[in-house]
Amino acid sequence: MVRQPRRRKAYPRNRFAEGDHALLIDRRGRRYFISLSAEKSFHTHLGVVPHADIIGQEIGARVHTATGHELLALSPTLGDFVQEMPHPTQVVYAKDLGAILMYGDIFPGAVVLEAGLGSGALTMALLRAVGVKGRVISYEVRPEFVEKARKNIETLNPDPKNLEIKIKDVYQGIDETGLDRIVLDVPEPWHVVPAAAQALVPGGVFLSFLPTVLQIHHLQEALWESRHFDLMETIEVLVRPWSVTRRSVRPVHRMVAHTGFITIARRCALREGPGWDEDEPGVSRGPEVEGDGVPGEMGLSPGG
Ligand code: SAH
Repeated sequence: MVRQPRRRKAYPRNRFAEGDHALLIDRRGRRYFISLSAEKSFHTHLGVVPHADIIGQEIGARVHTATGHELLALSPTLGDFVQEMPHPTQVVYAKDLGAILMYGDIFPGAVVLEAGLGSGALTMALLRAVGVKGRVISYEVRPEFVEKARKNIETLNPDPKNLEIKIKDVYQGIDETGLDRIVLDVPEPWHVVPAAAQALVPGGVFLSFLPTVLQIHHLQEALWESRHFDLMETIEVLVRPWSVTRRSVRPVHRMVAHTGFITIARRCALREGPGWDEDEPGVSRGPEVEGDGVPGEMGLSPGG
């Protein structure tokens, strides 16, 4: 039997093909996100480029509009795509996606429960990190978001066999057991804590992304009260881009000041001893600054 070569439509690839996405960037850094189709043309105030001029070119090619303006043609990275894709909900952007994958310790082969799906940005990052041997189960309470999110996800990952989307309210409970990681982007994650304690494997990581401090306080209280979680930690990621030119090197004038906070905790054996703020003297949990003043650098370093 002759085996058919498998058509691989995944990045990275060296040349643009029909149906690929391309990010066109003009001299001023303006970005245009297009889907390549041989009959179409891309129109901007800088002129027209037939998609056929881009199809077949190397990624990173410089193409020219009919009026001679240069456009850089690149395949979008996951971070680019998340920024450019249609999103009916708020999405998690690259700076937080990176931290979520590391602090949440999302590893190849992991079984991860996510809620809510939203526009699928975080889902795409999770799918990439768990790889083909891992699984992502995503709960979303609003069915109207599911098709849009699926479309976004399938743009970069045409056949995500290891993704299961459930229309389900995560506050009502978790169907799965043996989860390695739980990653939440929902407004009231404290409702999930009791079910998470049952659904996570011993040592599993619970992670929640939240925009305000009152939510963090509420969540940490629930984590402490459950007595099944330990090493609670809340961090925020500040990214300050720099402008680097021949004559001047300095931070850019504007930066994103706030997105959200990442809270993590480990699923542990039931704690019999003191609860929140009742630590015995000398017992330190979490990333308090101690001794030489170096705070816990990684969510998963042993506490104390
Ligand atoms: N992380 C997503 C954005 C999530 S926005 C992304 O990067 O694209 C929050 C989503 O959680 C919304 O779609 C909302 O409908 C969903 N949601 C809110 N409460 C929920 C619940 N109790 N169970 C499941 N999904 C919920």
